[in-house]
Amino acid sequence: MLIVKKFGGSSVADKDRIFHVAERCAEEYEKGNQVVVVLSAMGKTTDGLLAKAHEIDPNPPKRELDMLLVTGEQVSVSLMAMAFHVLGVPAVSLNASQVAMRTTSAYGSAKLKRIDTERIRNELDSRRIVIITGFQGVNKYDDMTTLGRGGSDTTAVALAAALHADACEIYTDVEGVYTADPRIVPNARKLKEVSYDEMLELASLGAKVLHNRSVEMAKKYGVNLVVLSSLNRAEGTVVKEGAKMERMLISGVAADKNTARISVIGVKNEPGIAFKIFNLLARNHINVDIIIQSVGREDRKDISFTVARTDLQEAMTLLNENQSVTTAREITCEEGVAKVSIIGAGMLSNPGVAAKMFEALYSANVNIKMIATSEIRITVLIDEADANRAVRTVHDAFDLAD
Ligand code: ASP
Ligand code: MG
Repeated sequence: MLIVKKFGGSSVADKDRIFHVAERCAEEYEKGNQVVVVLSAMGKTTDGLLAKAHEIDPNPPKRELDMLLVTGEQVSVSLMAMAFHVLGVPAVSLNASQVAMRTTSAYGSAKLKRIDTERIRNELDSRRIVIITGFQGVNKYDDMTTLGRGGSDTTAVALAAALHADACEIYTDVEGVYTADPRIVPNARKLKEVSYDEMLELASLGAKVLHNRSVEMAKKYGVNLVVLSSLNRAEGTVVKEGAKMERMLISGVAADKNTARISVIGVKNEPGIAFKIFNLLARNHINVDIIIQSVGREDRKDISFTVARTDLQEAMTLLNENQSVTTAREITCEEGVAKVSIIGAGMLSNPGVAAKMFEALYSANVNIKMIATSEIRITVLIDEADANRAVRTVHDAFDLAD
C-alpha cells in the first residue's frame, strides 16, 4: 500500500514530537508499505516568519514573502529526515521544486496544477520514506509559491491523488471532525464519517481541521481521506463520498469569526450594478460570501455581503476608489460579526430545519443580521459576541452531543 501522511505544525513542534512522528511513520514503513510524509512548518513558525517580514516591510512584495514562508516547511522536512536517520530508516526530504510541484503564479494563493511523480516513485521504489514540504509549489518562472494558509493539507491530498495512494491520512492535534469545535462545545461528538460535501461546507465555514481546497480536491479525485490525531491512536473521521449519516439531519455546527459585513448603499437600480461590484472584488481575489440585495426603492437599492475580515481593508479601499463605477452613495462596514452555520446532507429531505435553528437562536436571544442557505447548510450572520453561545444553543437544539 502507498500511504500519504500529513502532519500539521503542532505535530512537529519540537524534537520529541518530531521523533514521535518519525516512529509512527517507521511503523507503517516496517509493515512493508510505501510512505510519503507531508509536513507543515514547526509550531507557529509561519506566523513568526510573517511577523518578521512585516517588521522590515509593512507591505512586502508577494514573491519575496513566499520565498521567506517556504523556509518553514524546509526546516521540518530536513529535521524529520534526520530523525529517520537516527532511527535507521532510509528517508529523503524533498521540497516543491525538487519534486516539481507546479502551481499557478499567484504568490500567496497559488493553485497546484501538476505534480511530477517520477522522483517520488523512484525514491519509494528504493524503499525510502519520502518527506515532502507542504504548503509550497513552484511556478512557471521557477519561483517558489505558497498555497495559502493551511495549504499543507492540499499538498497532501494532491500528492495522494497524483500517486494514486491507497489512503491520505491527515494528522492533527484533535481526534477528527466533530459536530462542533470541542473548545466551544465540550460535549461535541466525533463523527465516524462525513461526506465530502459536508466536509467542504464545514471546512469553508470555520471548522479548521482541513483546508477547504484539500476537501475539494479529495472529492474531485476520490481520495480516501482520514482525519486523525497525532497524539493518540483513536479512530479518526473518514471523509468520503455520500457517507452514511450516523444520526441524519445535521452533522455539524461551525462558527467563522474571520468575517466582516460590507453594505454598498444607494446604488442605481439598473442592470449591471451587481456585476460591477463583484467583478471588482473578484479581479482582486477577494471572496465574498452571503450576498443580500434589498428590494429597489425608486431608482436605488442596497447590496450587502460578507468578506473575510482579513480582506476587509482591501475591499473597502477598492469600493471607495470605485464609487463612481458602482454608483454607491455610501459604503459601510462592520467587523464584529460572525457566521454560524449548520451543515447536514439530511436537511435536503427534511423540512423545518431552518425553523428549528432560528427557534434556538430566538430562545437564546440572538439577533440574525443575514441569512444564507445552500442545499446542505444554513448560515446566519450574527454579532461576534454571541457566536459561541449561538453554537452551543444550536448544537443542543439538534441534539448533537455525545
Ligand atoms: N505552515 C503553513 C501555515 O501555517 C501551512 C500549513 O500549516 O498548512 O499556514
Ligand atoms: Mg492546518
